[in-house]
Amino acid sequence: MSDAANVKPLDDRCPRCGGGFHCGVNDAGPCPCTTVTLSTELQGRLREKWSSCLCVSCLVALAGGAALEIQEAQAQ
Ligand SMILES: [Zn+2]
Repeated sequence: MSDAANVKPLDDRCPRCGGGFHCGVNDAGPCPCTTVTLSTELQGRLREKWSSCLCVSCLVALAGGAALEIQEAQAQ
Protein backbone atom coordinates (compact mmCIF):
# COMPACT_ATOMS: atom_id res chain seq x y z
CA MET A 1 0.00 0.00 0.00
CA SER A 2 1.39 3.35 -0.96
CA ASP A 3 -0.27 5.99 1.06
CA ALA A 4 0.49 9.67 1.33
CA ALA A 5 0.33 9.22 5.08
CA ASN A 6 3.55 7.22 4.81
CA VAL A 7 5.40 10.32 3.68
CA LYS A 8 6.50 11.94 6.87
CA PRO A 9 6.54 15.72 7.00
CA LEU A 10 9.63 17.52 8.14
CA ASP A 11 7.78 18.60 11.25
CA ASP A 12 10.73 18.80 13.58
CA ARG A 13 13.54 21.28 13.57
CA CYS A 14 17.03 20.31 14.55
CA PRO A 15 18.14 22.62 17.38
CA ARG A 16 21.77 22.18 16.39
CA CYS A 17 21.79 22.98 12.69
CA GLY A 18 18.30 24.43 12.33
CA GLY A 19 17.40 22.03 9.56
CA GLY A 20 14.00 20.44 9.21
CA PHE A 21 13.69 16.73 9.73
CA HIS A 22 11.25 14.15 10.94
CA CYS A 23 11.90 12.26 14.13
CA GLY A 24 10.48 8.78 13.91
CA VAL A 25 10.78 7.94 17.58
CA ASN A 26 7.00 8.10 17.97
CA ASP A 27 6.30 6.27 14.72
CA ALA A 28 5.51 2.63 14.39
CA GLY A 29 8.50 2.06 12.16
CA PRO A 30 12.14 2.38 13.13
CA CYS A 31 13.57 5.86 13.38
CA PRO A 32 16.60 6.66 11.22
CA CYS A 33 18.38 7.74 14.37
CA THR A 34 18.46 4.14 15.53
CA THR A 35 21.14 3.60 12.90
CA VAL A 36 23.41 6.02 14.76
CA THR A 37 25.20 4.69 17.79
CA LEU A 38 25.93 7.28 20.43
CA SER A 39 27.80 6.61 23.63
CA THR A 40 25.84 6.78 26.84
CA GLU A 41 27.91 9.77 27.92
CA LEU A 42 27.22 11.61 24.68
CA GLN A 43 23.51 10.87 24.91
CA GLY A 44 23.51 12.34 28.41
CA ARG A 45 25.20 15.50 27.20
CA LEU A 46 22.69 15.85 24.39
CA ARG A 47 19.78 15.47 26.78
CA GLU A 48 21.20 18.16 29.03
CA LYS A 49 21.69 20.54 26.15
CA TRP A 50 18.63 19.90 24.04
CA SER A 51 15.26 18.56 25.06
CA SER A 52 14.31 17.62 21.53
CA CYS A 53 15.80 15.29 18.96
CA LEU A 54 18.50 16.21 16.50
CA CYS A 55 18.49 15.43 12.82
CA VAL A 56 20.29 12.31 11.68
CA SER A 57 23.11 14.17 9.99
CA CYS A 58 23.91 15.96 13.24
CA LEU A 59 23.76 12.70 15.17
CA VAL A 60 26.17 11.14 12.72
CA ALA A 61 28.49 14.12 13.03
CA LEU A 62 28.37 13.99 16.82
CA ALA A 63 28.97 10.25 16.81
CA GLY A 64 32.01 10.98 14.68
CA GLY A 65 33.36 13.36 17.28
CA ALA A 66 31.99 16.70 16.09
CA ALA A 67 31.51 19.48 18.62
CA LEU A 68 28.08 19.92 20.18
CA GLU A 69 27.94 23.50 18.96
CA ILE A 70 28.36 24.26 15.30
CA GLN A 71 30.99 26.92 14.97
CA GLU A 72 29.49 29.24 12.38
CA ALA A 73 32.45 31.57 12.18
CA GLN A 74 35.80 30.13 12.99
CA ALA A 75 37.80 32.95 14.48
CA GLN A 76 41.39 32.59 13.50
ZN1 LIG B 1 20.90 18.84 12.64
